[in-house]
Amino acid sequence: MPHPIVFTHPEPPPATTRIWPVFLPFAGCPYRCLYCAQDKQTGRDHVDLGNILRDLETDLEQALAAGRGPYEIAFYGGTFTALPEPWPETFLSMAARFRERGLITRVRCSTRPDCVDPDGLAGLRAQGLDMVELGVQSFDDAALRTSGRGYTGETARAACAMVKEAGLALGIQLLPGLPGDRDGVFADDVRRTAGLAPETVRLYPCLVIRDTPLAALWEQGEYAPWTLSRTRAELAGALLALWAKNVRVIRLGLPPEGTLAEHILDGPWHPALGQSVRGLALAQVIWEKIQLLGKGPSSLDVPRRYQGELLGHADELAEEYAILGFGKGMVRYVDGDEFVLE
Ligand code: SF4
Repeated sequence: MPHPIVFTHPEPPPATTRIWPVFLPFAGCPYRCLYCAQDKQTGRDHVDLGNILRDLETDLEQALAAGRGPYEIAFYGGTFTALPEPWPETFLSMAARFRERGLITRVRCSTRPDCVDPDGLAGLRAQGLDMVELGVQSFDDAALRTSGRGYTGETARAACAMVKEAGLALGIQLLPGLPGDRDGVFADDVRRTAGLAPETVRLYPCLVIRDTPLAALWEQGEYAPWTLSRTRAELAGALLALWAKNVRVIRLGLPPEGTLAEHILDGPWHPALGQSVRGLALAQVIWEKIQLLGKGPSSLDVPRRYQGELLGHADELAEEYAILGFGKGMVRYVDGDEFVLE
């Protein structure tokens, strides 16, 4: 009689800190990228850094008084390392004051690969920055060139190395499906990303958003985004490749924030993309285990915390599981961490 196959989910353990996001839309950006719609994502098309600083300080004081936290503060939505002086230092010194008081435990920012240098990173590290998320988008020269990002794959790779050499944790953001994309580019980007061993990765499939230069290209028929089904399959493969290298993937697709959803003209948008892709990745893991079993499955125990993603979004994978041989009542949700396939 074949032995049951016992396995755990391949995802690395999640971070335990809670993020306090601070959005600085387009602040410090040398120009506006072809596809970028920080204004639609945040509901603001410009920032007054002084107002943001004041509001943030008030909100942090209130959180401290209410006994909330601790938090990791994250400066997103712009190019933090290229903010005009003295803003990076001003934001970091305020974070440091709240770190001394126990509310903040870590500070991260997002920036572009062509806006970092060793001295600048060392300075920010000394002022209390812990992590840099680089908007790499792709390591492919042609995709970067066609998308007008203004740097090469080598610049992106060197920036990742610089972040680590400065003693900072590294996050990488990829943007699959850019203009200039070709079959295999994203899989190659994922392989390179995994090889750089970042702490985290975010994957934002390219969308066509109203009032962006990309929308004009799309209207002229010069750009076509990925389909949703391709996106699901490519992202599920990326998840498995990154998880295999112990890299946490902390975002799949743009969050439905601000007025974003109403401005999406085309592209692989789905409000539950993460659940859908995670379900598909898990189905691939289970499919591989069934091959090892050497017979049709008779039961599957699934840790209860994966109940919401086993069948994907709105049970979209029910048919696939039926094809794999799972009839009604064969899946049990159990306590603990182990899947047991018999
Ligand atoms: S993609 Fe990044 S660098 Fe480009 S405009 Fe948007 S926030 Fe700025």
